[in-house]
Amino acid sequence: MSNSERVALVTGAARGIGAGIAAKLASLGHPVIVADVIEEREATAAAIRAAGGRARAIALDVAADAQVAALPALLGDWWDRLGIVVNNAGISPKGPDGRARKIREMPAEEWRQVLAVNLTGAFLVSQACIPPLRARRWGRIIMLTSQAARAKSQIAGAHYAAAKTGLMGFARSLATELGPDGITVNSIAPGRIDTPMARGAGAGVNEAFLAQVPMGRVGTPEDVAEVAAFLASDAAGYLTGATLDVGGGSFMP
Ligand code: NAD
Repeated sequence: MSNSERVALVTGAARGIGAGIAAKLASLGHPVIVADVIEEREATAAAIRAAGGRARAIALDVAADAQVAALPALLGDWWDRLGIVVNNAGISPKGPDGRARKIREMPAEEWRQVLAVNLTGAFLVSQACIPPLRARRWGRIIMLTSQAARAKSQIAGAHYAAAKTGLMGFARSLATELGPDGITVNSIAPGRIDTPMARGAGAGVNEAFLAQVPMGRVGTPEDVAEVAAFLASDAAGYLTGATLDVGGGSFMP
């Protein structure tokens, strides 16, 4: 199968890391579905097409069961040729000072929303994608987890750390279940990457983090996209259930 026969669905692809991954996969010949809740998805897909790639923007809230269930009918033959699923959509709410709320101040509704998008959303999308991947006995599912799920975090909120840690457990279960079907499931745990989400942190947060990054710089969406492209390739065919830390050495197990 050539890459043009392997459609990639990237959630939260309008901007940031997701947009970087979508552009990279498109540059390798994959038709890419740019799925997001924000309008910027149209401009992101248009930029991919302007660069010579194939891309379709769709409105998708990964936490909305009915929207996820409607994907096969919405995407038609693109859905039948699905090969790569990148569960990238995520939120990391901050308080008015740009820092995550402490647990004692965290509204239960904020907790539920973070779990709904970052964890349940990845479950809903992954589950929906199983039939087309199984039918072709080839697939790649990639989760965007976080350094906040690898060690204690002084930046992310407790809901975010809990959701991303849960996502890694879900990825292991999914990798175990889908291995016999030729489908790999792996996670990327970025450190600090320069995106709108990371820029939303309070003053001094990113600078303090940078002080303990051996590579001496904040990461870019392209740094993450290169690793995602590898995980999506045939070259990574015997790699499953793994978590790759993409943080310039900021976390070393
Ligand atoms: P970002 O906020 O810049 O982009 C996230 C995208 O997800 C946005 O376009 C947003 O509209 C979309 N999104 C939000 N809720 C959605 C929903 N319910 N359905 C569909 N799309 C939705 O964030 P980013 O920094 O590019 O982060 C991408 C992923 O990487 C996230 O899962 C994030 O948790 C993870 N991550 C980021 C960093 C970092 O430093 N930037 C570090 C570790 C992990």
